[in-house]
Parts: sequence; structure tokens; C-alpha cells
Amino acid sequence: MENQMDCIFCQIVSGKIPSDVIYQDEEVIAFRDINPQCPVHILVIPREHFTSLIDITSHEASLMGHMISLANQLARDEAISDSGYRLVINCGKQGGQLVPHLHLHLLGGRQLSGQLG
Ligand code: AMP
Repeated sequence: MENQMDCIFCQIVSGKIPSDVIYQDEEVIAFRDINPQCPVHILVIPREHFTSLIDITSHEASLMGHMISLANQLARDEAISDSGYRLVINCGKQGGQLVPHLHLHLLGGRQLSGQLG
């Protein structure tokens, strides 16, 4: 899928919108959330535009594995791997997704509630 001009995260990928990027490679970018819900709140996104999790198939298994292992590494780098953290992907309107470009939230640095919804 081509990157989309009107997608805010595609514009972060292309550098048109500034962001606090903490990691990038040929497949993914990680940056700090502009409205952090926790002391550590990082978004990991693919450079390629996928509108949501529902667009992911087994063809993207390697990409998804990369996103998760990167989030784990960032949790170690941010010193929250021992205390614990949460990875979240919201999908679609009722799933709480606001930005229509696949993203993985890394949340930690405080006690999170046990509630899932
Ligand atoms: P979601 O509700 O899963 O779609 O989450 C979207 C997240 O993107 C929210 O936590 C927003 O605070 C975050 N966000 C939106 N715009 C930006 C931006 N320009 N830079 C960093 N984070 C952003």
C-alpha cells in the first residue's frame, strides 16, 4: 500500500510533521506520543501505510514480530522492562483507534489498571 498524503503518521514517516523520533530503520519508526498517558508512551509504526490491524495478514508476520521485539527493546532502554509495561493496538472506531495508520502503543512507568475496556 502506498503512503497516503492525508495520513498524519505517513507525514511523520516522511518528515513533513516533526515528531520525537527515538528509533527508525527501513521498516518502522518509533516516536513519543504527543499526548502521553504514562511516563513512557511510545508509538511504533510501520513506514508502510496500513490503515489498521484488520489489514494485517500472515504476509506481515515478520513486520509485526519486528514491531513487538522493538517495543520490548525500547522497554528495556526506558528501564520499564522489569517493572512491567503494556503493548496495545487499537483497531477501528469501537476499538478506540483515532489515527488510521497501524500503530503499537508501548505504555509503562506507572501502575496500569487491570481493566481492558
Ligand atoms: P489511537 O487512539 O490508538 O489511534 O492512538 C493514536 C495516538 O496517536 C494517540 O495516543 C495520540 O496522542 C497520538 N498522536 C496523534 N498525533 C500525534 C503526533 N503528531 N505525534 C505523536 N503522537 C500523536
